[in-house]
Amino acid sequence: MYHQPVLKNRRTLLERAEKFISDVYFTDCNLRGRLYGDSCPLETISAFLSPKRITFTEASTQNFAPYKVGENFGQTWWTCWFKVTLTVPEHWRGKEVHLLWECDGEAMVWRDGQPVQGLTKEGEKTSYILSDCLKDEEPHSVTLYVEMACNGLFGAGQGSMIAAPDSNRKFSVQRAELVIFKRDVRELLTDFEMLIDIVKELGEGEQRGYQALFTVNEMVNLCDPADPSSFSNAHSLAQRFFSQRNGDSQHTVHAMGHCHIDSAWLWPYEETIRKCGRSWVTVINLMEKNPEFVFTCSQAQQFQWVKSWYPGLYSKIQFYVKKGQFIPVGGTWVEMDGNLPSGESMVRQFLEGQRFFHQEFGRCCTEFWLPDTFGYSAQLPQIMQGCGISNFLTQKLSWNLVNAFPHNTFFWEGLDGSKVLTHFPPGNSYEMKGKIEDLVKTVKNNKDKGRANHSAALFGFGDGGGGPTQLMLDRLRLVQDTDGLPKVQMSSPDQLFSKLLADSALLCTWSGELFLELHNGTYTTQAQIKRENRRCETLLHDVEIASSLALCQKKTFQYPQEKLQQLWRLLLLNQFHDVIPGSCIGMVVEDALRYYEDICSDGALLLREAWEALGSKGSSVGVFNSLPWERHEVIQITDGADKSGLALVRVPSIGMSPVKDTQPVTPVSVTVQSDGTVLMENGTLHTVINKDGTLASLCLISPNRETVSDGCVGNQFVIFDDVPLYWDAWDVMDYHLQTRKPVVEVLQPVHVVTSGGLRGSVSFTLRISDKSTVTQEIVMDAMCPYIRFNTKVQWAESHKFLKVEFPVRVRSLNATYEIQFGHLQRPTHWNTSWDWARFEVWGHKWADLSEHNFGVALLNDCKYGYSIHKNTMTLSLLRAPKAPDATADMGTHQFTYAIMPHTGSFQDASVIQCAYNLNFPLRLMQCSADPVPWSAFSVSTKSVILETIKQAEDGNRALVVRLYESYGSSVSATLRTTLPVRKAWHCDLLERQDRTQPADMTSDGITLNFKPFQIVTLLLIL
Ligand SMILES: [Zn+2]
Repeated sequence: MYHQPVLKNRRTLLERAEKFISDVYFTDCNLRGRLYGDSCPLETISAFLSPKRITFTEASTQNFAPYKVGENFGQTWWTCWFKVTLTVPEHWRGKEVHLLWECDGEAMVWRDGQPVQGLTKEGEKTSYILSDCLKDEEPHSVTLYVEMACNGLFGAGQGSMIAAPDSNRKFSVQRAELVIFKRDVRELLTDFEMLIDIVKELGEGEQRGYQALFTVNEMVNLCDPADPSSFSNAHSLAQRFFSQRNGDSQHTVHAMGHCHIDSAWLWPYEETIRKCGRSWVTVINLMEKNPEFVFTCSQAQQFQWVKSWYPGLYSKIQFYVKKGQFIPVGGTWVEMDGNLPSGESMVRQFLEGQRFFHQEFGRCCTEFWLPDTFGYSAQLPQIMQGCGISNFLTQKLSWNLVNAFPHNTFFWEGLDGSKVLTHFPPGNSYEMKGKIEDLVKTVKNNKDKGRANHSAALFGFGDGGGGPTQLMLDRLRLVQDTDGLPKVQMSSPDQLFSKLLADSALLCTWSGELFLELHNGTYTTQAQIKRENRRCETLLHDVEIASSLALCQKKTFQYPQEKLQQLWRLLLLNQFHDVIPGSCIGMVVEDALRYYEDICSDGALLLREAWEALGSKGSSVGVFNSLPWERHEVIQITDGADKSGLALVRVPSIGMSPVKDTQPVTPVSVTVQSDGTVLMENGTLHTVINKDGTLASLCLISPNRETVSDGCVGNQFVIFDDVPLYWDAWDVMDYHLQTRKPVVEVLQPVHVVTSGGLRGSVSFTLRISDKSTVTQEIVMDAMCPYIRFNTKVQWAESHKFLKVEFPVRVRSLNATYEIQFGHLQRPTHWNTSWDWARFEVWGHKWADLSEHNFGVALLNDCKYGYSIHKNTMTLSLLRAPKAPDATADMGTHQFTYAIMPHTGSFQDASVIQCAYNLNFPLRLMQCSADPVPWSAFSVSTKSVILETIKQAEDGNRALVVRLYESYGSSVSATLRTTLPVRKAWHCDLLERQDRTQPADMTSDGITLNFKPFQIVTLLLIL
């Protein structure tokens, strides 16, 4: 029987209940104040401070000095190891005993040389359970070690989370003692909390909320905090409410434990290893106590780290993976950026990830998992499908600043028409807490009501790790099937997606990229990382090709598989979604640049070894072409054999030739005109360069077509104020466009550097500000259809954005941008909010603006940010954010872009091939005197690009070759090779042979059919 409330007053009843469990008010007499019973001090605490992250074995042998709780230590990023001795009082028999440890760093408890519990106040974990119910035979005297990192869950930002780290922060332990933990009080508190939240979340419009209100009020009446015998009556009342069931039609929430751990962000890579250890050991503890608990865990790299740093923990993880509770998800090496990695890099993310998961756990992932990346390439559906994945989970598009994405559950159709079933958890979070608010949001926000009756809810502290807590599990368990709330079941991605697929008839389809209308500065921030990424992608491409050719040419050659895997894994790691976007602290940038350096030096060595195996010894100079078409280009000769240092060479596709200088049909002419402007011409292009380096004219000689827009100049540097609303390194806002200022101050006017013949070039220097300058060499080569701008910037700005503009004589409503294995169009107008929200977009090696039979392409060798509005093509060059890296992008930068007017379409004009040429320079190698030009592969159809040649992962004297259709057309192509290929098979992107599909091989080559933008992978058996 309920007590009749005195007045009809919802507010007093609700607040009465809230105060009854408050940890701030009335704890002297409320239930919350009874959570802990007696306490007992620790026997001893001693400490040892280490500037480095060391192993337990090393730490445990150090000299520990006495430590008093409350004492400060540091500095940031150091580690304080504590040695703790404790004795549990005899008379605590039958009690649940915790070590309570509150500190402002992230801690790990070690016992008997093994990690046993992660402790982080910010992650609501301050207890290590010594005993669930103390028995006499349990050890009462215990020695523990606590490893405390001097950083918080979110690093050590000075003043705000994303500010650059405060390197002198001090840390302390605020509380360390033994306590009796009262499990019955905890359970009752959870009953109260959930009922109070139901009252609040369902609001005054739902009668169910009032039923919760009266229930919780009556529980306060029944419960005497001082008398534990009163708890069961209150608990029973709560149970009665929670066990009132839903109808069959209720929405089902698939709850999955999760712990988003950024592989590096506001902390360095090395700390992430410990974050994984702390988070996952906690997960394992929860699994031991909660057999229904399911935890989803992505990023093969993090598994690899834990495997080598915490082998004991790793074997427990393997056990729970087998049981189906600890579920590896995602299929990739890391949760990479979804825009910037090349097509091949994206494939390798999956190849390394899926192979790792298969090898370690006997199973590939069936879903791609990328909750926190800043947009998703339109080529991802095809790549996923090629890697055995048909499902995709993310939620980041809920961060859109302008337009609300219209679906939560839908089919996502990629560039080539591949489809994947996609789910955005409607709660718009990957770090829920199992609260009523999370469940109600999941149903309310669902934009596919009536179409999809199942949703995911990912719970557990995230970003900096932490993961789920027992409290979250208790909350979810209470409301599995409670009338008025969605049904909740502990679930797995497989279970969720199979439910969604089984009932997918009403689902909508979204075609093309998933563009994030936020964080668009990440295409440009930390230019050095972007440049090195492109350079290393190019280098590994070349190393794999040269090594594959060497493997075929020389029986004794050992393909450097292990080394290449190591280098790829470093490259893939740096493609993590806070590293390549440049949204990380300076320490991470240093690590990343060091990894790139390793890739470059080791890669260069591998290249030399492969060339040597190819017979490249001797005193002559040869040229190596890693691209699948013949190239006829001017190159710089470094051995001084040629007087000018330049040579025009012709090199066959995927092959090599000696340097045999040939004469151009039309040499480059350079003329300084009386007004100081410089005229350059090479038979294809004719340009007039002003004294300030801008282009007064750029003309395609045949059919005499001017490129530069009337009354404008090309190659105009412009600078903008770049102050976002909050996310400094991430965001460039729409309003920055209103602050455009041309860079006009000439420090050194245009002067001739190379006077013509094979090459003409001029140079000039502009002042950007009193701290920054730009020096540029404008280069025109004989036979070359584009002009290169080799640029050097001294950059010392604060919150400025440097770009370069080319206003062109082209009118088109759409511009084209290269993406992974293809290209797509985006509007050049701002008609609707979906159009203007894309005021800053990403592209890879080129972008093009074309009308019928004429267009202009803007190529680059390491940039990713573009904007093409109306007829102005703009390339984003440098930013100067101050958080989370206060020195981001300060210093010297070198990069190259190029402008290429053309007739016909960009496809017919070979814009794609030219952009490849700009990015994959012909490489000089040693060779014997007078070798014969040699080609290993060629493709009969220009639109089909042979992108990758490598040894098959499973070896066995087989090569893998990957080709894609780059024009957006259905074509047949013949792949010809001079290598001794015996047989060829189709395979997927994971190199799994398709035994139903032998490749059609004749004496002429292998015939292949392509649909638009299709990627085809072959296994060539040698
Ligand atoms: Zn993240």
